Amino acid sequence: MKFGGTSMAGTERIRRVANIVRAQAANNSEVAVVVSAMAGETDRLVGFCREANALYDPAEYDVVVASGEQVTSGLLALTLQSLGCKARSWLGWQMPMKTVEAHAKARVSTIDAPEMIAGMEAGEIAVCPGFQGISDEGRVTTLGRGGSDTSAVAVAAAVKADRCDIYTDVDGVYTTDPRIVAKARKLKAVTYEEMLELASVGAKVLQTRSVGLAMKAGVRIQVLSSFVGDDAVPADELPGTLIVSDEEMEQMVERGEMERQLVTGIAHDKNEAKVTLTRVPDKPGAVADIFAPLANASINVDMIIQNVGRDKGETDVTFTVPGADLARTQALLDDRRGDIGFNRVITDSKVAKISVVGVGMKSHAGVASTMFSALSDRGINIQAISTSEIKVSVLIDEDETELAVRVLHTAYGLDTAD
Ligand code: ADP
Ligand code: ASP
Ligand code: MG
Repeated sequence: MKFGGTSMAGTERIRRVANIVRAQAANNSEVAVVVSAMAGETDRLVGFCREANALYDPAEYDVVVASGEQVTSGLLALTLQSLGCKARSWLGWQMPMKTVEAHAKARVSTIDAPEMIAGMEAGEIAVCPGFQGISDEGRVTTLGRGGSDTSAVAVAAAVKADRCDIYTDVDGVYTTDPRIVAKARKLKAVTYEEMLELASVGAKVLQTRSVGLAMKAGVRIQVLSSFVGDDAVPADELPGTLIVSDEEMEQMVERGEMERQLVTGIAHDKNEAKVTLTRVPDKPGAVADIFAPLANASINVDMIIQNVGRDKGETDVTFTVPGADLARTQALLDDRRGDIGFNRVITDSKVAKISVVGVGMKSHAGVASTMFSALSDRGINIQAISTSEIKVSVLIDEDETELAVRVLHTAYGLDTAD
């Protein structure tokens, strides 16, 4: 069971969480619980790091930001004990949750937790702080923002759980963010592949890596709400959204429990920035000269457009990078201006990426053209386009985000009837 920040925000909410955990444990289950820091706490801690040292050392940043989850895991264990349950916390280094790669965005490598598993077998509820791990050097690490979802899936895989229930502030995965589109529809199930794509293009209900890990390790995820009364449908009866394999989805479709839609969901991402280089020489190697230094600096380039060469053998190149990497991107390009040979760098961080996702697109034409027509009918200008096998993304003006998501939701017939 995993509980997100809003579910853990304050002693009253933690008591509600403890009641949900106790009910699950009473239902003949061995339980491991993974918790986030209280809502807003990680942002507050990140703020302190920035104030202390703008160019902070990621290893010390991890020491600071991992503390939010230490507090909530201890508080949940205490609250469970007050309800008469046997419970103890297992911090990242105690479990241990071993991680590799960079601080502040570490990857889980292995969890070998015989003591924790023995405790669970003896009826003790294991409470694990999400987000935190330990490096090979024995230092505290964190798994990137939203990383508690990944901790939960990793723990579920390690204890060979029947299911990983991710409790949050919405009651499942919807066709789009239900806070933006009132007519968003709750999905009974989504395939790993679609959820991976939805998460990676901005549906922050699950961290992208958690879905990748679940797919690899075969962990069944259910997303459901912790904001429920005592009379709520128990988690074992699957009231939320299941993240499942293609085969399981096929069976659900055959049983008439799910309908196959062309488009499964729509997501938006306001954290991208657009960069245009003007008058780049139109010759072999020019594009490589632009992108090699960005790759070396681990800056992820997403959408790319190279315009048709103008006369004089020059062209414009436009691409997007994460907003947080824009300043570094600009500095790297300015440094190499002579070598690359462009005229100007123009940047714009007031852009949003809107994506439609669905496995149905593999076999059906027309998904992209529906998108373009629906946006043009509302006068929304498309600045860049990218596609994958199951996704079409467009870049638009950030101010038009909500309108675009609503218009597309209607255009693909996803609105609820009421
Ligand atoms: P937690 O703190 O529990 O990890 P998050 O804020 O990370 O919760 O994720 C839950 C939020 O994800 C919801 O409040 C909702 O606004 C947002 N969200 C975005 N896209 C979707 C979607 N397709 N379905 C459900 N929720 C979504
Ligand atoms: N507390 C961390 C964050 O806010 C991890 C999480 O909640 O998933 O990013
Ligand atoms: Mg989250």
